[in-house]
Amino acid sequence: MESLFALSTEDLMKALGLGKPFQARIVRQFLFKGARTFSEMTSLPKAERERLDSEFRSTFSSHISARSEAPSAVKLAVTLTDGAVIECVRLSDGKGRYTACLSSQVGCAMGCAFCKTGTMGLVRNLTAGEIVEQFVHLEGLGESISHIVFMGMGEPLSNFTPVMDAIEVLHREDGLNISYRKMTISTCGYVPGIRKLTELKLPVRLAVSLVDAEDETRSRLMRINRTYPLSVLHSELLRFQHRNEKRLTLEYCMLSGINTTHESAEALASFAHGLDAVVNLIPWNHIEGMEFKTPAKKEIDGFCHELRRLGINYTLRMEKGGSISGACGQLASESRRAKEQ
Ligand code: SF4
Repeated sequence: MESLFALSTEDLMKALGLGKPFQARIVRQFLFKGARTFSEMTSLPKAERERLDSEFRSTFSSHISARSEAPSAVKLAVTLTDGAVIECVRLSDGKGRYTACLSSQVGCAMGCAFCKTGTMGLVRNLTAGEIVEQFVHLEGLGESISHIVFMGMGEPLSNFTPVMDAIEVLHREDGLNISYRKMTISTCGYVPGIRKLTELKLPVRLAVSLVDAEDETRSRLMRINRTYPLSVLHSELLRFQHRNEKRLTLEYCMLSGINTTHESAEALASFAHGLDAVVNLIPWNHIEGMEFKTPAKKEIDGFCHELRRLGINYTLRMEKGGSISGACGQLASESRRAKEQ
């Protein structure tokens, strides 16, 4: 069954054989509240509930197939109708604020060298409904979620239309009612997607996974840089910022001995120049089979010292989901990996 979660009223009527638009609206309200069967939709006539219940086993097209927990994060493996497995994470800041980290693709075509998802290649794009379902699965864990980051599997801006359609449903008052300002799209620097986002003038936040601000190293770590080098990315970010007047986040995954040197800090300062941006430092989390190393505390402190000296605005994020492989760029499907081994 295709996902019902991002269908228009008309398409929902067609998909479920409903006679009246108001019935479709009732169904949608229950879907967003997390109803898993049609029998729970008590505002529908009994006969209609029974018909829907006998025709459709579940209201979701996907199901939770595994769950793992760390002190501030819960990761769900979600199996889709075709058997593909994606992952999403609910992060907590410990002060009652919950953030959903959603996937936008099964796998990813971008092949960043330090990322587990990148080793899978792109299997397929997610539909808008499959993206929204992840959010509803995460809310079903029991807490109200106020923030969303597209930092799970995939490059969200290369699956542009379904991601924007999902954002619309997540935002709408009769949808999940999340403010655009509380949504962040994270990109590896996919310039055509940033350009389209700039044209849309949607007040969502943008995070760019920068990782290194020197072309030769960045091209080695991130293939996207061979097509859209730093100068092109920088101009595009300036345009985005000019149109959107929003502070950007530059995600900087710290790789020991690679991008934590004095020269790396200088290059980062020069890239950040002219942008209203905060640098988010994320020490790399160990991934089995990869040659990179997590920087030691002394190395992290040294790099932070350099950034302060250069007047760079930064935050240091120790990964909340790290211990369950739910950190950014590490959401590769365990089941797929298991098949490959
Ligand atoms: S870091 Fe992001 S863009 Fe790069 S391979 Fe991983 S998921 Fe794809």
